Amino acid sequence: MSLKGKVAIVTGSTSGIGLGIARALAGEGASIMLNGFGEAVEIEAIRRDLAEAHGVQVRYSDANMMDPAQIAAMVGLARETLGSVDILVNNAGIQHTAEIENFAPERWDAVIAINLSAAFHAMQAAIPLMKQTGWGRIINIASAHGKVASAQKAAYVAAKHGLVGLTKVAAIELANTGATCNAICPGWVLTPLVQKQILARSDREGRPEAEVRHDLLAEKQPMLDFTTPEQIGALSVFLCSDSAKTITGAALSIDGGWTAQ
Ligand code: NAD
Repeated sequence: MSLKGKVAIVTGSTSGIGLGIARALAGEGASIMLNGFGEAVEIEAIRRDLAEAHGVQVRYSDANMMDPAQIAAMVGLARETLGSVDILVNNAGIQHTAEIENFAPERWDAVIAINLSAAFHAMQAAIPLMKQTGWGRIINIASAHGKVASAQKAAYVAAKHGLVGLTKVAAIELANTGATCNAICPGWVLTPLVQKQILARSDREGRPEAEVRHDLLAEKQPMLDFTTPEQIGALSVFLCSDSAKTITGAALSIDGGWTAQ
């Protein structure tokens, strides 16, 4: 197991892509700090299953990614209870869709806070720990929307483009510290975040869910397949490996050709 002895924080890991990444890192032997919202009973079941399946320590922080103090406390909790922070995956994210003139300012603030500012605050707290050990991996889950835009996603597209920029700055600052920083830019992944968009469109247009799902893919991706959380987990494991030691500041697409067009 290549990550035995390493400690990983994965924000927004009670669901979807974050959970896929947490599973993949635990599968390689990393201890995990889970984070995100959900039913306490379900989160505890995820925590226990992960720990038992892989024989690693798994803790949970309920830190709200909108609150810098709670983000710093989550990093502190990982250090106190798991020993360090070697891997930081900034994954928590939300979506809101509306045209700019109708975009509620408080939704703009929330999307920017969770999808962009939270990564800055977590990095600020975790980087000194990585410098101390001389090894670190920061993985920012951006999006195809970190490279190209879509209508009605002003805050999301701005946040993800910003996250790709932040990734590049961190990569340069960390270049000779043993730590790398990269962004992963997925296309469509069938998680609760996307399922909500499919259901809303199916309701709005009065069309079957399966048809909307197909259209969603066809409008953006030459390849008509969803990427899976497991595939993003595998890419994250690779970025944590020694083989990826000089990959830094990259925005890696895993998007069925979305941004090749
Ligand atoms: P999801 O809704 O399944 O999971 C989001 C996670 O973030 C959950 O664990 C949720 O509890 C957590 N979260 C939300 N607000 C939070 C907050 N304030 N504090 C702490 N945790 C919070 O979504 P997903 O599709 O797995 O998305 C994960 C990331 O991947 C997001 O950053 C998203 O933008 C990105 N992404 C998703 C897709 C896709 O197609 N699903 C594509 C590209 C990028």
